[in-house]
Amino acid sequence: MSIKENLETIRENVKKACQRAGRDEKEVLILAVTKTRSAEEINEAISLGITDIGENRVQELMSKYDDVRKDVKWHIIGHLQTNKVKYIADKVSMIHSVDSLKLASEINARCEKISKVMDILIEVNSGEENKSGIDASEVFSLIEEVKDMKNVRIRGLMTMAPLGADEETLKTVFSNLKNLSEEIKERNYENVSMEHLSMGMSNDYKEAIECGATIIRPGRSLFI
Ligand SMILES: *Cc1c(COP(=O)(O)O)cnc(C)c1O
Repeated sequence: MSIKENLETIRENVKKACQRAGRDEKEVLILAVTKTRSAEEINEAISLGITDIGENRVQELMSKYDDVRKDVKWHIIGHLQTNKVKYIADKVSMIHSVDSLKLASEINARCEKISKVMDILIEVNSGEENKSGIDASEVFSLIEEVKDMKNVRIRGLMTMAPLGADEETLKTVFSNLKNLSEEIKERNYENVSMEHLSMGMSNDYKEAIECGATIIRPGRSLFI
């Protein structure tokens, strides 16, 4: 399959999942996960209409950055070490994997230096074997600590479903994230919005859309 055909399939699936959920397909951003893909493949995806790409490693992002078309937005979707923030602060438009006060503070400090406000998502842990993200119970206190920082803006939540989860587990995990975002909205925190739910990878983006995803992160299904 070509990237073109894969993207057509994904778009069709997004449309159908939105119809099932009574949602407008324009609400769902296809964020192409480009880890392990060459700049050439990435540029092909951009030429087919991909506007946003996600990498989970800073080093890999840096190695491709100059060779990728400029008319695209980069996202960091994987665990980000505090000491790497300085390399990507000027390059990425959203960081999906904020999981500590220390990381948020470093992003804030680095963005202050370059007069930028970084959009961030808080990553919530959804499975025992999956160590990334914080527990749902810790999200409120992290928001309290981050919400007044001037150079980061919390725009929503992100999660990864447990690998190989069945349909029922997926729906539970994704609905839980949606419910958590609703609870956060009800608190009306200043400067915090919950407009984004980044959830759903190649194997589970349909379920994620049915549960309210606004950003899906397919990788293999687009490039293989
Ligand atoms: C790799 C990765 C994806 C994409 O996974 P696929 O199974 O290739 O679709 C999405 N999100 C994160 C955080 C990833 O690391």
